[in-house]
Amino acid sequence: MGPLRNAYLDALGIDRWVPRDAPGEIPSIPEVVAASQVAAPVPHLAPANAPYVPSADWGALRERVAACTACAELCRTRTQTVFGVGNTRSEWLIIGEAPGAEEDRQGEPFVGRAGQLLNAMLLAIGLPREQVFIANILKCRPPGNRDPKPDEVSRCLPFLSNQIALLKPKIILAVGRIAAQNLLATDAPLARLRGKLHSFGDPATPLIITYHPAYLLRTPSDKRKAWEDLKLARATHARITAGA
Ligand code: SF4
Repeated sequence: MGPLRNAYLDALGIDRWVPRDAPGEIPSIPEVVAASQVAAPVPHLAPANAPYVPSADWGALRERVAACTACAELCRTRTQTVFGVGNTRSEWLIIGEAPGAEEDRQGEPFVGRAGQLLNAMLLAIGLPREQVFIANILKCRPPGNRDPKPDEVSRCLPFLSNQIALLKPKIILAVGRIAAQNLLATDAPLARLRGKLHSFGDPATPLIITYHPAYLLRTPSDKRKAWEDLKLARATHARITAGA
């Protein structure tokens, strides 16, 4: 483990350790499979009303999101839409909940303290922020940082599905309850969803759930569980890219 990763694990507040009988930290494939309960794939999310015709390229999709007025309250109160950011050729897609006040101001997801912690979490598994693509379930900020309403989520999810279709990620990391529950179409608590390998869409993309960095800032005692999730994500990606 290099000094840079050590520094970021320190930022996460995670003790560094190496298993006595294993040289590395990436669990073996059998360990991953044993540790993971593979949930059945869920179909791509359908638009709420009229059939959604996907945009064929990133530029067209970005313009379409920027012009969207489907949610009356959100488009009245937002500063701007927050499309997503990062490498559109990345094998990694990070999905959060919705923009907060700072994201709404800057037009970028995961900025501020939660963003810094997300960056640290990603770097801890060798992923600079610039190497992944980051998007939210909702592209507009709910006022007062309230939870997204179900009808807002249904209107906005086709945009995310469109982003997934364009990106074709090898793995998705969903952070936080809202992202997890909406991607898996469940109301199960996050504690029951994390620590497992799920899949999303058709074709099925591996999906790992972990805590939202804003939650981890409030509850640092759960950072160790988040680290386990990140290691599961890293091992799953390594297994996929090795063709296993
Ligand atoms: S949240 Fe999504 S669907 Fe609603 S107005 Fe914003 S971009 Fe449109």
